[in-house]
Amino acid sequence: MSEEFEVSKELIKQLVDGTIDDDNAERLLKLPRKDKNRFFNYIEVLQEKVSWNDKILLRLGDKLYVVAKPGGARETQCECGYSFGDYRTNWKLGCKIRTRKTLEEMSRVYTPAPAVPEPGWQEIREFFCPNCGTQHAVEVVAPGYPIVFEMLPDIDTFYRDYLDSPLDDESKDWYQDQSQKKTASWAQ
Ligand SMILES: [Zn+2]
Repeated sequence: MSEEFEVSKELIKQLVDGTIDDDNAERLLKLPRKDKNRFFNYIEVLQEKVSWNDKILLRLGDKLYVVAKPGGARETQCECGYSFGDYRTNWKLGCKIRTRKTLEEMSRVYTPAPAVPEPGWQEIREFFCPNCGTQHAVEVVAPGYPIVFEMLPDIDTFYRDYLDSPLDDESKDWYQDQSQKKTASWAQ
């Protein structure tokens, strides 16, 4: 097999859509080499799926992306186009949140019964896009525990060192958790 093997964009699209057949999925798993351009082809497929033109830098979830905005900001954005703001701030802080605290509330989403979290010790938080209602995440934590920031990606290092394709607006300031600025603003 050639060193420059490239997985076709059609196959990547099938992977993303979940329609790839078993034979092709197995073939991809067994490739002797990974496709060097796989990340950018993957991003291209994602870009064609969304209705907006902001450049996708990373995909955080099924319908959640970090994008480069025209003004130079990097923001977390829902597939519907709703922006949660600067990607360095925990996007969950901009969600509609449903919290399940009682046994009855938690039993509605857990089965079998022994698996249900224990009220008083744990609660379930569900995070929704305030615009389209997509559920982007769920966390089960102790009551009062700070909202979990699942991942602050070091996008510059990823593009520079792993993809060999540094971003034009590289800066040390990008890899800084800014979540506290938002929570501090609520206290004022
Ligand atoms: Zn949305």
